[in-house]
Parts: sequence; C-alpha cells; structure tokens
Amino acid sequence: MISVAEACDIIAGHVATLDTITLPLADVAGYLLAEPIIAERDQPPFDRVTMDGAAIRWQTPLPALTSQGSQFAGDPAGTLQDGAHAIEIMTGAVLPDGADTIVPVERYTLDTEQRQLRFEPDYAPERGQFIHRRASDHSAGTTLLEPGMRITAAEIAIIASAGRASVSVYRKPRVAVVATGNELVAAGAPIAAHQIRLSNAPALISAMQLAGFQDTSQHHLPDEPGVLEARIGQLLESHDVLMLSGGVSRGKADHVPDVLARLGVEKQLHRIAQRPGKPMWFGVARNGALVFGLPGNPVSTLCCFRRYVLPTLQRLAGRTYPDADHAVLGADHEFKPALTQFLAVRLQRENDAWIAMPCPTNTSGDFTALAATDGFIELPATAQTFARGETFALYRWPAR
Ligand code: AMP
Ligand code: MG
Repeated sequence: MISVAEACDIIAGHVATLDTITLPLADVAGYLLAEPIIAERDQPPFDRVTMDGAAIRWQTPLPALTSQGSQFAGDPAGTLQDGAHAIEIMTGAVLPDGADTIVPVERYTLDTEQRQLRFEPDYAPERGQFIHRRASDHSAGTTLLEPGMRITAAEIAIIASAGRASVSVYRKPRVAVVATGNELVAAGAPIAAHQIRLSNAPALISAMQLAGFQDTSQHHLPDEPGVLEARIGQLLESHDVLMLSGGVSRGKADHVPDVLARLGVEKQLHRIAQRPGKPMWFGVARNGALVFGLPGNPVSTLCCFRRYVLPTLQRLAGRTYPDADHAVLGADHEFKPALTQFLAVRLQRENDAWIAMPCPTNTSGDFTALAATDGFIELPATAQTFARGETFALYRWPAR
C-alpha cells in the first residue's frame, strides 16, 4: 500500500492548470488571474484634493481671501486668480492651477455676503497640505497585479481602476459527483428500514460550493456494472473531474474499479495507508479527465475530498502553492495501526497558535461526530503516540 505522501505525488503528476477564459469583471471574484493587470493611468491621475475646504496660494501670515467660486470633484481644473483669492474645493477635485495648498473647511468661516474667507487667528497651513500628488501611488504602465493572484474585493477594485471591464482567468473545473449504492435514498424520498440516506453527494457539492467551485452536478447510480459503465462513460465526456463515492472496496457490489478499467480510465493508485479512506482509488481517463473513487463511508469521503480532491481542483484552477496550515495537538492521543490518521479536530485560539482538540469518530461511518469540527490534523504512520503540544499539518473544511 502506498503512503499519503506518495499518493499526493502521484495525483499531482497528473494535474495541469486548465485553459483560460475571459470573464466580465462582475463574475471573476474567486478566480485566479491569468494575465498581469497594468495601470491604465497615473494614480492619482492628477493632483487630487483630499479635504473639503479652500484651495489657496500658500502665504504667511494668511490674510482674509475672497472666494472666486466652487470647484467640485469631476469638474475640470479651475485657475486661481491670485494670492488674494481662494477656490472653495471638494475632496476628489483636481487641484486648481495656481493653487498649492488646501485649507480644511473647519479652519475658516465664510462671510457669504462679501464672499470672504476668514481664517482662525494664527492659523498657519503647511505648504502643499492635503494634496495627493499625481503618480505618487504608481505611474501608468506599472504592473499592479501578477498572474496567479486570487481575485478578491481588493483585486476587483484594482482591475476596475485599470479600466478593465473583463479579464482573463483560469477556468474552474467542471465536476460531477456520483454516489453509487443500491441502498441509498435521497432526502425527501420515502425510505425503508434496510436503506440508507444518501448524504455524501450533497456534502461534497456543498464543500465545493464553499470552496468556490460551483460548476458541479450530482448523480446517483445503482451497483449495476452495465448502468455504471454507460452513465460514467457519458459523464467523463463532459467533465474535468469525476468524484465517485462508494463501490471501491472489496465487496461483491464494489464494481467501480472494474467499470473504470473497462472505460479506459487508467488506474494510478488504489488503496492508501490511511484511516479513514484506505480503499481510495484514482485514475485518469483517455481524454484527461481525473477520476477519484472515494470510499463511501461519509467520514472517509469528506477526509479524502479535503486531502486529495480539493487541492486538485485548486491546482486545476491555477493555484500553485500547497496547503500549509499547522495546528498544535491539544490533548495526548494514541493510534496503533501503521496508518496515517486523519483526526477530526475542533480549533481553539491560544497565545497566537491554533490548538487542535481531537473529536474522534467511532468509525468511518460516524459522521455525526464531525458536526462543528473545523477540519482534521494528519498524524504520521510512523508513530503510535502523539503528545499534547506537538505540531501537525492541519486541513480545514471549506467554510464560509
Ligand atoms: P461502500 O464504499 O460503497 O462500501 O460504502 C461504505 C458505506 O458507506 C456503506 O455503509 C454505505 O451505505 C455508505 N455510503 C456509501 N455511499 C454513501 C452516500 N452517498 N451517502 C451516505 N452513505 C453512503
Ligand atoms: Mg456501496
């Protein structure tokens, strides 16, 4: 059986970033940028006033000045007549020609009849104050964002400021989730005593949605080789990734590996030295589609999704860096089998570190114990006892 690290390497060897697409600015949040964003203009594009007040020619002492009118944000630059005048000016306006200093509106009173600005006694402005100088943030032509950056609100603001109404991003994978099992009945449908509620597929769809992958579809197939072959064959044609749950163990109804082989999906790994999730299967279809066969037990399904599938989806969508979270084990823990353990945990913040409190599941089917956990830590196969205070890799569930 291969190790978790070997499994990760095998999978990573088959993952290449998908093609790029151009999308309108309103639709690109959460995507990774596939092109650099270049400044359209200097920032600020002109000497920009940063206070509501009066634009004046600096002098000391400051006499009373006559208002020659108002200039608003969006108005073209006016021209100050001389040192005896002021232009009443608003935040965001262009500095008028001939002015070099802004006096905030709080520092003077305006005699509206005589149009006179009378400053506080002894008020001495600094020359050049409250002006955001042209190009002081950056000049036209500067690279503002590099390809590969994840687009969030701040990046959207920068892309819009560069005048770009659409932008090139890496496409996100189309993913089909296929629950297999004759025993499964979806929520909402009547169920008999010998049947099981189908929970994996909705859980995986939600996990992907929370992680920003919305192009997904959900299917349920019986444990019948002919039906599995026909439907999986169709799904392979129109998806980048197929995620199957169930049917990869050694039972008589576990047809998935044989069916995939008949469809020409080349097996890359089957069975990993881990708990939960030992029976996991991974292969690549002739058209390059990636196929994950996740064990059907709900805890196994979610752990394998988080550990192997989610990073694959993120890499397909352009991410280049690996998972790198860590947490400190909050209680002594023992695990005898020579397997890597994915131990569900609840996180607590203590002195700038994440403390992981174990929330063990009784079996890999005991998924109710996962409620309110934050993810799992990965305990290496090489040890059997794990001491409070030791640090381990942390895999968080996708969350809002
Ligand atoms: P399998 O991997 O098909 O042998 O399934 C292992 C266990 O997980 C069985 O008890 C199944 O009933 C259960 N199981 C499989 N698929 C699902 C699913 N989609 N939702 C909930 N339980 C499942
Ligand atoms: Mg099954």
